[in-house]
Parts: sequence; structure tokens; C-alpha cells
Amino acid sequence: MDNLNIVPRKYAIKHGLTFYFTGKPCKNGHVAKRLTDKAYCFECSKNARYAWKKTNGITYEGQLRRARRKLSLELLGGKCVKCGFSDTRALQIDHVNGGGTKERVKDSRIAEKNVINGNTTDYQLLCANCNWIKRFENKEH
Ligand SMILES: [Zn+2]
Ligand SMILES: [Zn+2]
Repeated sequence: MDNLNIVPRKYAIKHGLTFYFTGKPCKNGHVAKRLTDKAYCFECSKNARYAWKKTNGITYEGQLRRARRKLSLELLGGKCVKCGFSDTRALQIDHVNGGGTKERVKDSRIAEKNVINGNTTDYQLLCANCNWIKRFENKEH
């Protein structure tokens, strides 16, 4: 192993690097870089993610995304405010004052985050049909 590649953890912390590298094998024998904050071996954490995906059929991040969406839909009542449609696959978070068009294009996660943080007054749930109709009525399209 090339000693020149060694990046001590202290150095990594000081310079805000995500990884450090000791040149020594981890408990599973990987000579790999490690995550600065938790000292996890990069190879091990990669394997752990892969194992998670294999067991759960989705990545950890994907599962978090789903959980966030589910929670934000629940917080907004779980059904379309216009027609009561409740199949979450076709429900969309809509900005009450029409700002949603911009936000939706940028990132629907922003709306979810705001709702989860307690802002349930600026947002409402619309099904895909009602959302399109609203957009035509308001000329948001
Ligand atoms: Zn390892
Ligand atoms: Zn509807």
C-alpha cells in the first residue's frame, strides 16, 4: 500500500474531508477509505447498503423518500380536497396560492419538507385530475 495516499482522520476532520484513509484493513479485511464522521469502512458501508437494498427491495434513501412522502400526505389529510380521491399514487401536494408550479418543477421534496415542518396551511392535496383542472382554471399551465 502506498503510504502517500494516507490521510489521517485528524487531517480529514480539520479540512472537512468526507473520507480519511489509514492504509490499515478494517475488521472485514478491506483496505479502504473510511467515513470521517463515523469511522465506517467505505467498502463495508457500501456492502451494508447493498444488503439493505436486497432485503428491502429499495435503497435506504429511497425508503426515506417514501416515508417522507407518506407522512406529508397524511399530514395533509390523505385525500384530494376537491373530490376526496384517496389513492396516494395519484395525489399531489399543491401550493394553495399557486406557487406550486414553480416548486414542483424545482423539487417536490421542498413541499414535503415544508409540510413535515408544520406548514400545512400553504399546501393542500389534489389528485392528478383536480390538479390539472385547477391549473387550467388558474392558467398555471
Ligand atoms: Zn470494510
Ligand atoms: Zn380530486
